[in-house]
Amino acid sequence: MLGLMQDWPLLLHRIIDHAAIQHGRREVVTRAVEDGAIRRTDYARIRQRALAVAKRLQMAGIAQGDRIATLAWNTDRHLELWYGISGLGAITHTVNPRLFPEQIAWIMDHAGDRLLFLDISFVKLMEGLQDRLPTIERFIILTDAAHMPETSLREAVPYESWLAEADDDFAWAKLDENSAAGLCYTSGTTGGPKGVLYSHRSNVLHALACAAPDFMALSSRDTVLPVVPLFHANSWSLAYSAPMTGAKLVMPGAKLDGPSLLELLESEAVTLSAAVPTVWLGLLQHLETVQARLSSLKRVVIGGSACPRAMTEAFERKYGVTVAHAWGMTEMSPLGSFCSVKPGYAGLEGEALLDLKMKQGHPPFTVEFRITDDAGRDLPWDGTTFGRLKVRGPAVARAYFRREDEAMLDEQGFFDTGDVCTIDGEGYMQITDRSKDVIKSGGEWISSIDLENLAIGHPDVMEAAVIGVPHPKWDERPLLIIVPKAGRTPDKASLLGFFEGKIAKWWMPDDVVLVDAIPHTATGKIQKTTLREQFRDYRLV
Ligand code: ADP
Repeated sequence: MLGLMQDWPLLLHRIIDHAAIQHGRREVVTRAVEDGAIRRTDYARIRQRALAVAKRLQMAGIAQGDRIATLAWNTDRHLELWYGISGLGAITHTVNPRLFPEQIAWIMDHAGDRLLFLDISFVKLMEGLQDRLPTIERFIILTDAAHMPETSLREAVPYESWLAEADDDFAWAKLDENSAAGLCYTSGTTGGPKGVLYSHRSNVLHALACAAPDFMALSSRDTVLPVVPLFHANSWSLAYSAPMTGAKLVMPGAKLDGPSLLELLESEAVTLSAAVPTVWLGLLQHLETVQARLSSLKRVVIGGSACPRAMTEAFERKYGVTVAHAWGMTEMSPLGSFCSVKPGYAGLEGEALLDLKMKQGHPPFTVEFRITDDAGRDLPWDGTTFGRLKVRGPAVARAYFRREDEAMLDEQGFFDTGDVCTIDGEGYMQITDRSKDVIKSGGEWISSIDLENLAIGHPDVMEAAVIGVPHPKWDERPLLIIVPKAGRTPDKASLLGFFEGKIAKWWMPDDVVLVDAIPHTATGKIQKTTLREQFRDYRLV
C-alpha cells in the first residue's frame, strides 16, 4: 500500500524558490572577478536571473540533459547559472580551472559540453584549447560589455548582454527528481578523471543532511563564506544549503589569499566559512603578521585533506573559532563525515578534545560506513583496527558518467573510497591513509598522514610529506620530506627527535630530506605519485 502524501519531487529550483519567498532580501555579496569591487544582490534577484538564464538557454536551443560547462570562481553569477541550468533540466558541468590544460580539454570533450560560461581570468586558457573542443558552440564571458576583453573565442559574448536578451517569464521544467543536474570530474588523484553525475534528488538530500545541527548547522542567522569552490565537489553543498536555510552568502571571487579573506570575513561579519587546509594556512599566517583578531567568525569547516593539529589549536585557542574537521569526496557529493561532539564525548577538554578533533568524524543520516580488510571481511569499530573505508547512500555515486557498465560497487552496494581508516565505538572515523599511500613495512601498515601531521607541529617545518621507499629487509620504510620555514634549516636529529615518544619505534622515518617545495595536485593535495617518482632511486643507508 502506498502512502497518501503529496508528490513533491526533490528538485533543486525549489531551493531557490523557497529562498526567494522566505529569505528574499537576504544578501548574496560578491567580490567581482573583474576589479575586486563588492557587488550586492539577494535571493529574490538571484531567482529572477536564474529564470532568465533558463529562458535564454532555451532560446539558444539547449534541451534537457545537455551539458553546460562553467569555468568560474564563486560569484553571484555562477550561483544563478547553477539554478538556471538545472531549472531547465540541463546539467551544470563545473570544470576545475586548477586542472592541467590537457585534463580540462579531455574532460570537456568527454562531457560533450555545448556552451561554456567562463570568468575573464580563464579567457587566455580557453583560447589555447578551443580548437580541441568542437562541441562548444559558444563561449560566454561572465562579465558585462564594459569589461569584455578582446578575445578570439568562438561566438564570444559578454554574459550580461547575452542574458539581457531574455526576460524572467519562465516556468521551471517539470522533472523526475532522479534527473541529472550536475556533473563534476574527480581530479584524478588516483587514475584519470572520472565524471560524477549528481541528480536533483541526491543534491537536495545532501544539502538537507549538510545543513543539520551536527553538521554545518546552518540557519537564517548565519553568514557563510564558501571558499570551497563551486567548481570542485559541489562547494560542500553550500550553494544549496545556504539558500535552503536563508543564510547570507559571501562569494570571494578570485581572491582567496589571507588579506582578501580577512577583509571579507570582517566587513561582512561572516559567522561560518569552509575551506581546505592550505587556504586556512594563508589566513592564519596573515593574522599573525598583522596581529589581527576575528571578530565575528564562529566556526570553520576544514576538509579536503587532513587538518593539522596546530591549525585546530590556533583557531580554537588563539582566535576562539570552533573547528569542524570534515571528510568527503567528489563521489559522495561530497560530505562523508563531520567531526561534531556527540554526547558520548561531551566534557572532553584540552588535549583530549584536540585528539577528538583530529578525527574526520561521524557520517550524516544519508551515509553508511563499513571498514573491511582486503578480502572484504568487516573489521571491528574499536578505534585502532585499520581497514578500507566503504560507503553507501542516496548521495553516493553508483557509476561514472559514460562508464556506466563498469562495476563501481561491491555486492552489498558499497563504494570503496580508497581511504584507509579506523572507526571507534562512538562511530567516529579517522583516516589513517589513502590505500595507495600507506607504507607497508614488514607486513604492517604505517600511516603516512599521522607522520605528516606530527612533523608539521615542529617549529621549523612549513610542510611535510611522508612516502614509502623500497627497503631490502622491510619492503618499504618511511622517508620524511620537509619544506622548512623561511630561513630555517632543521637537522635530521632535531626532526626525528620530535617524533620520539609520540609514535611506535618502528614507525620512525628512516631518513629526512629538505626540499624547496612539495608537489600538489590541482586540488591542493600532496601529489604522492610525483613524489614517489622523484624519490624512486632513493636508497636508505
Ligand atoms: P580528487 O578529485 O582530488 O580525487 P576529492 O576531493 O574527491 O578529490 O578527494 C577525496 C579524497 O580527499 C578523500 O578520498 C580523502 O583521501 C581526501 N580527504 C578529504 N577530506 C579529508 C580529510 N579531512 N582528511 C584526510 N583526507 C581527506
